Amino acid sequence: MRVAVGSLVLSEDVRHDVLVEMDDAGVVTAIEAAGAGVAADLAVDVAAPAFANTHSHAFHRLLRGRTNGAGGDFWRWRDVMYGVAGTLDPDGLRAAATAVYAEMVAAGYSAVGEFHYLHHRPDGTPYPDHAMELALAEAADAAGIRLTLLDTVYLRGGFDAELEGAQRRFSDGSLERWHERWHALDDALRASHPDVTLGAALHSVRAVAPDHLAYAVAGLPHDVPLHVHLSEQTRENQDCLAATGLTPTGLLDRAGALDARTTVVHATHVTDVDVATLGAARVSVSMCPSTEADLGDGLGRAEALRDAGARLTVGSDQNVVIDPFDELRRLEGGARLASHRRGVLSPAELWRAGTVDGHGALAPRGAPWQEPRLGHPCDLVILDARSPRTVGSDPRELVLTASPADVLGTVVRGRHRASSTLRDLAVAAYPRTERAHGR
Ligand SMILES: [Zn+2]
Repeated sequence: MRVAVGSLVLSEDVRHDVLVEMDDAGVVTAIEAAGAGVAADLAVDVAAPAFANTHSHAFHRLLRGRTNGAGGDFWRWRDVMYGVAGTLDPDGLRAAATAVYAEMVAAGYSAVGEFHYLHHRPDGTPYPDHAMELALAEAADAAGIRLTLLDTVYLRGGFDAELEGAQRRFSDGSLERWHERWHALDDALRASHPDVTLGAALHSVRAVAPDHLAYAVAGLPHDVPLHVHLSEQTRENQDCLAATGLTPTGLLDRAGALDARTTVVHATHVTDVDVATLGAARVSVSMCPSTEADLGDGLGRAEALRDAGARLTVGSDQNVVIDPFDELRRLEGGARLASHRRGVLSPAELWRAGTVDGHGALAPRGAPWQEPRLGHPCDLVILDARSPRTVGSDPRELVLTASPADVLGTVVRGRHRASSTLRDLAVAAYPRTERAHGR
């Protein structure tokens, strides 16, 4: 596909009158100056590299707009979430994921990391043929988003807690059985959905015994993305310290789980030593500011983590909001509130966090994502720079002024998708049964 772009917004500069040609995998096959009248399949005024959403639980979308009157804290919200998690079947999961992935592409995301732990039937017995995982792959197909499926190991309820209730369907019973299922899923996806990247996740240090973390990682190929929830809640830190004498970061470091292919999710309540450890390991951090605000988690340490050498990315997590601009604005807004300064993360850094570094956290190692460059994959988000929100903005600062309403379309894997069509799909696909809401 050949796309002529009037203003192509890159993190460091803006290029004018550019023609980007992409193949069916979204790999750039030509990038050159485009004068007036150049032959193109699509001509747009303003475009930027599309965003990557590094942390999603698709089914949490079903709680949007239904929990705000209940009060309480993260743990109370989690009880409500478990009500939904306990009832969804593959059809319900496919419907919810189709709705939320379509909304993501309409908002300018071209890739999502789905942190997936709803593996088995509610009583813990397996579905045949990876039914839940393939439901997610089918949803991604329908919405046209790149999916990195982060298949999650979840074996216990806490440092001294057994699995209970809805958690039973999260567990494979043992690390051996998780590894077995992971490799079988890898084979199944290669056969049926070769576009899906299979990654892995440790749910958290709560969900795998401390002495088993190293073994959990060792049973996976070395090049797959590895994600883990980290220190979202102070209670996790307290329980981890009491059980092991280490912070969750210290425990993961001891297990050899922290390196450049690792993405830690949240990293909200981390110590100075943790920050130094995460930076030295060159991990990516998936900050999820809309969710962290919604659940009252706390303010993350974006500036310190950036300064230490970690790569910042953003995720929509519980999908209470699907808006990459909002996540990035909140990231910088939180840093301003914490530091009493402006421009803690520059617009260029925000673009990088939302695009190149986000895609990097979802791609296998050795498949670097770049701003449009020959031979590298790149998707585009097409922006309306003349809306009430964006008119007058320096294109480089659109990341701080635009919203999903300003996303006209997205080019993913060399295919254009209009946001208006995707928004219709997001509404049509949404499951409307009470069962889907855990009733
Ligand atoms: Zn999460």
